[in-house]
Amino acid sequence: MGMGNAPVIILREGTKRDKGKDAQFNNISAAMAIASAVKSSLGPRGMDKMLVDSVGDVVITNDGVTILKEMDVQHPAAKMLVEVAKTQDAEVGDGTTTSVILAGELLKKATDLIDANVHPTIITAGYRLANDKAQEVLKNISMKVSIDDDDLLKLIAQTAMISKQVNNSKEYFSNMVVDAVKTVVDKDKDGKYFVDLKNIQTVKKAGAKMEESYIVKGLIIDKEPVQPSMPKLVEGAKIALIDAPFEVKKTEIDAKIQITDPTAMSSFLAEEENELKAMVEKIKSVGANVVFSQKGVDELVQHYLAKNGILGYRRLKQSDLEAIAKATGATIVGNVQELTKNDLGTAGAVDEKLVGEDGMAFITGCKNPKAITIFVRGGTEHVLEEVERALNDAIRVVGVAMEDGKVVAGAGAPEIELELRLMDYAASVGGREQLAIEKFAKAMEIIPWTLSENAGIDPIDSIIKLKNAHEKKAAKAKYFGIDLDSGEAVDMLAKNVVEPLRVKVQAINSAEEVANMILRIDDVIASRRAPPA
Ligand code: ADP
Ligand code: MG
Repeated sequence: MGMGNAPVIILREGTKRDKGKDAQFNNISAAMAIASAVKSSLGPRGMDKMLVDSVGDVVITNDGVTILKEMDVQHPAAKMLVEVAKTQDAEVGDGTTTSVILAGELLKKATDLIDANVHPTIITAGYRLANDKAQEVLKNISMKVSIDDDDLLKLIAQTAMISKQVNNSKEYFSNMVVDAVKTVVDKDKDGKYFVDLKNIQTVKKAGAKMEESYIVKGLIIDKEPVQPSMPKLVEGAKIALIDAPFEVKKTEIDAKIQITDPTAMSSFLAEEENELKAMVEKIKSVGANVVFSQKGVDELVQHYLAKNGILGYRRLKQSDLEAIAKATGATIVGNVQELTKNDLGTAGAVDEKLVGEDGMAFITGCKNPKAITIFVRGGTEHVLEEVERALNDAIRVVGVAMEDGKVVAGAGAPEIELELRLMDYAASVGGREQLAIEKFAKAMEIIPWTLSENAGIDPIDSIIKLKNAHEKKAAKAKYFGIDLDSGEAVDMLAKNVVEPLRVKVQAINSAEEVANMILRIDDVIASRRAPPA
């Protein structure tokens, strides 16, 4: 019996399959669509986007990763590009738009080669070589920054915040950011600096100008005491953190207690009261004068706490409880009766402050002096969120710059330098990979191109001016980027536009990685999802 002509079906009916160039072009166009969606937000003249979700909540931002997170992206290749932005954000906190635009451009340039029948494996090999070389070039054109160089660190913060709404108060905010990061920076056992971002919290509250934001060396908990008669200020705070309700377990409805005579009733209540009293006695006996509870606090307990001059808070978020534990050295206890002296944390003061109409707890003088909070103010929720994002970006870049001690100029300067050096390198590699390296080199132009375009400057002119400047190979030529006011190529260090080396390294690395991943796909098999049972 020979093989029949009947086709062998291995995939479920309804499965969609794209193969070869169809699959490639489909993926590439989806990825390019993502890149072009964020393009107009790049740089100081980038525009904001208003994103509205299905329930009508609005986010206004020009932060690449935020835009992409809010967009409901469906296409699998497009999703890969969204991942690039997320990785960039996780690794360095800035350069998310850049990485996505670069990835889109690498893919666009690859289509020229695919059209000319260059095999994708040649393209990916060339891109890999180009990326390795790019990393080397970037290191060579970077400069040192010392952790004591506050002025330069401030400029790094300002460059990261420039396109955000805080730009008008960049002096104020960059001071704050450098102050914050310098407070938490530490050395590891090998003497390397590291910045633990968990030590820097941000707490937002609408109702004041953003310039009224400030740093608190300690924590802010957005809660009011359980009783207004509790002390407004506790100095020399001994803090208990309780992850259990200050309540007597409620009797279940179907386990009703039959109380037949009035004395039984009063003894039942007395027992409950004693149990609650005992909790407060326990708190008092270990010497705590402030209690934060993650759960509820019975009214009777509230009353006894207040009577004993103990400040009490209820229903804290888990994350707040953990932050207090970390900052004050307290241990979170699951059962009040197991609380000991050793579980208490310490702080100079817990202070009840009125912010607008609401009270907030300010915990200062913590055991861990590296625990700090930026109290973010702004007129509306939308402003607050964008200010917080800008501060987070700035904190990250300043932290990264301190950790690595290396910076590069911005405004397209490193990208143009890379293009020129990679072109030279391509010629030295030769073969068909040369073509791919040249495409990679050319793709770098997209950054100064887009910066110019967004500023209403003719991008072709900009690129020509930049290349001329860089080709001169004068001492500072490699720092020349595009001045978006004049449209001229100028030394960006003199213009105070500086970024951490790691932002560029990571942006180019992850752009190359995702572009290659997408280029290697030549078969997309989309299974039809089984209908819900
Ligand atoms: P990303 O999400 O990639 O960080 P941004 O919108 O923050 O996107 O833009 C970053 C780009 O803007 C970088 O290439 C940076 O060098 C450039 N840039 C920042 N400040 C200036 C400036 N004053 N003039 C020109 N370019 C600038
Ligand atoms: Mg940025």
